[in-house]
Amino acid sequence: MAEQNLSVFPTGEKNDAFAQYFIGQSYLNMLTTSGVPIGNVTFEPGCRNNWHIHHKGGQILLCTAGRGYYQEWGKPAQKLHPGDVVNIPPEVKHWHGAAPDSWFQHLAVEVPAEGSSNEWLEPVTDAEYGKLK
Ligand code: MN
Repeated sequence: MAEQNLSVFPTGEKNDAFAQYFIGQSYLNMLTTSGVPIGNVTFEPGCRNNWHIHHKGGQILLCTAGRGYYQEWGKPAQKLHPGDVVNIPPEVKHWHGAAPDSWFQHLAVEVPAEGSSNEWLEPVTDAEYGKLK
């Protein structure tokens, strides 16, 4: 399916570099790596990334296609639709990904910060994910 673009931003290639931190198939197309890095991330239905933390810099999600979710640790998941903007503060444990029955795409903006890094944690289990409405 990824041969067809979901939005005006090309889907790009399978996200092999980060596959170990995802459940299901995702695609990554770095739109720019100079200044502020911005990647176009596409999730197949049911695909989501592991719980993770952006240290120091945080992340901004700009939703471009499909339906998905964003969840912070200890809080209910939020539904995401095209046009939604999610400001993820640094040091907040969270995940993002597709709905079970829909592709999803967002631009991921890495907020630049001195010494920033990503910490990848445990997967979002089928039991947790299966409870989402
Ligand atoms: Mn994130």
